[in-house]
Amino acid sequence: MLKDIKVWVKCLKNTFRYRISQLQHTPKLAIVQVGSNEASNRYVRNKVKDCEEVGIKADIYNYPENTTEFELDDELNHLQEFYDGVIVQLPLPPHIRPQVATNAILPEKDVDGFRIDSWFKPATPKGIMDYLEYCEFDLTGKNVVIIGRSEIVGKPLAKLMTDANATVTLCHSHSKLEPYLEIADLVVCAVGKEKFLDCGKLDCPVIDVGINFDSDGRIVGDCFNTEGKDVTPVPGGVGLLTRCALLDNVIKIVETKEQNNFYKN
Ligand code: NDP
Repeated sequence: MLKDIKVWVKCLKNTFRYRISQLQHTPKLAIVQVGSNEASNRYVRNKVKDCEEVGIKADIYNYPENTTEFELDDELNHLQEFYDGVIVQLPLPPHIRPQVATNAILPEKDVDGFRIDSWFKPATPKGIMDYLEYCEFDLTGKNVVIIGRSEIVGKPLAKLMTDANATVTLCHSHSKLEPYLEIADLVVCAVGKEKFLDCGKLDCPVIDVGINFDSDGRIVGDCFNTEGKDVTPVPGGVGLLTRCALLDNVIKIVETKEQNNFYKN
């Protein structure tokens, strides 16, 4: 059974506040945005609010839509000197390859965990794994179906779940889903299509990662027929877990620095 995400997030934030109160240095996060769209602005605002709530100093760097890959690379190289963690809000304008931004951030500052050699687990998969642990959902021997094989959600989550002894089927647009769904003990849906997964037909818990906008501009997930089913809500679900994983990673950097006497050098 999945537990209430809001209760978990409240609990996590209390822990974060406590951990920061034990530090000598305030953790600092740079949030970089290129161009502006309403969804990204909202995500950035939420991340700043989270940081303020727990005691992380967050600064937003907003660059114009026509910023080039070279300019962004330069800016990231320069500004990360002053921060413990740096994130670049996605999506980027189409002329900027996401890996340009990702590769410019040092592995030890990549709190989104997008780099292969990042010191951190990717935020969304980490948020989901931490939440399942809180739910006391033991993955050992379970059949998990992950729908969506992106580099930031599906693939890294499949690895984390496999490492936790689940048997994972990683599905994509060419997969025949039905036979896998029939034997699933847990489904994670990260497709990005409204009304994609009919939960009425499923008997197992479902983690809905999708963020879509319906015709009235409201945020909705990938799942439908969720009434009475064990499905994480959207909004107020995986988005919150991801944001908490990010906070955790930022705090961890400063904890590690202090444990290693970094500030005395
Ligand atoms: P992508 O948008 O990069 O990829 C979508 C995946 O879905 C692809 O692997 C694609 O398959 C698969 N897919 C598309 N159509 C089908 C289909 N008919 N059947 C099965 N699989 C299909 O994935 P992201 O992980 O970046 O994003 C997925 C969703 O999750 C989006 O809505 C995004 O906004 C949301 N998201 C939410 C986060 C949160 O914090 N809540 C964090 C990150 C993402 P193929 O590879 O074959 O094209």
